Amino acid sequence: MSSAPHEQLRLMAVHAHPDDESSKGAATTARYAAEGVDVLVVTCTGGERGDVLNPTFVVPEAHEFDTLEGKRALRRAEMEVAAEALGVRQTWLGFVDSGLPEGDPLPPLPEGCFALVPLEEAAAPLVELVRRFRPHVMTTYDPSGGYPHPDHIKCHEVAFEAFHAAGDASRYQVDGGAAPWQPLKLYYNHGFSMERMRAVHEAMQGAGLESPFGDWIESRTAREIPERTVTTKIECAKYFPQRDAALLAHASQIDPNGFFFAVPRDVEAEVWPWEEFELAESHVPTRTPEDDLFAGIRGTEAAR
Ligand SMILES: [Zn+2]
Repeated sequence: MSSAPHEQLRLMAVHAHPDDESSKGAATTARYAAEGVDVLVVTCTGGERGDVLNPTFVVPEAHEFDTLEGKRALRRAEMEVAAEALGVRQTWLGFVDSGLPEGDPLPPLPEGCFALVPLEEAAAPLVELVRRFRPHVMTTYDPSGGYPHPDHIKCHEVAFEAFHAAGDASRYQVDGGAAPWQPLKLYYNHGFSMERMRAVHEAMQGAGLESPFGDWIESRTAREIPERTVTTKIECAKYFPQRDAALLAHASQIDPNGFFFAVPRDVEAEVWPWEEFELAESHVPTRTPEDDLFAGIRGTEAAR
């Protein structure tokens, strides 16, 4: 996928927390960045309410993990390393993590958190960022959040709103704000399609390895969760090492012996060298299935 010399393609990946960019579509962003696309990861919240999810993690001397401020600082430091591993730029929207409410009944969300910010207020900084960065393509989560965390659902809502409003001069006007910009395509990340999980599961069993996905596949089949459509597969196995380095950079969140590292990397690269996306909106003609997020844009007048 080569670009004409005068082209400057831009990709904006909108995520809820620091670490989401490394677990959803990470190798795709690394690939595009390596190929000369300007890639900007936008992180809606500071991840201030994430628990330590790595049993081997030790809070570094210079940091603390007991306050929202302390956690924010630590996770910013982790994010910086992850972005460098992926070779992408990254910026923050500045909202505060809502946390994942647990219990029955669920406790109320904490005051002032991202999920409770009214949509117009939550989307405003992203609209301005879209107008300044002028992405051709945006990625985010599907309306379910892909995972029922209130910040993931809010992340979808905010990115969806910005995709639709940034090109409209009558909306989200601010003094000194940038000119309207209409991104051309909107995609949803899909990391765990049944097709992928089955392929990996079968390959591991075939290799005599214990697959961690058997129960997962069974419970999902039993619950009859409808599968969303995958329209676009990006081949990116060459960039899995960068994705892994980015994951590990989030040392407080990612267990090096856990779920994300359960599949031997040679098996993964052979059986499933792709990351998957769902084309949700397009302002350019394109034919699915696609193998490029910039299909219909690359090589056209729009690729500037
Ligand atoms: Zn998240």
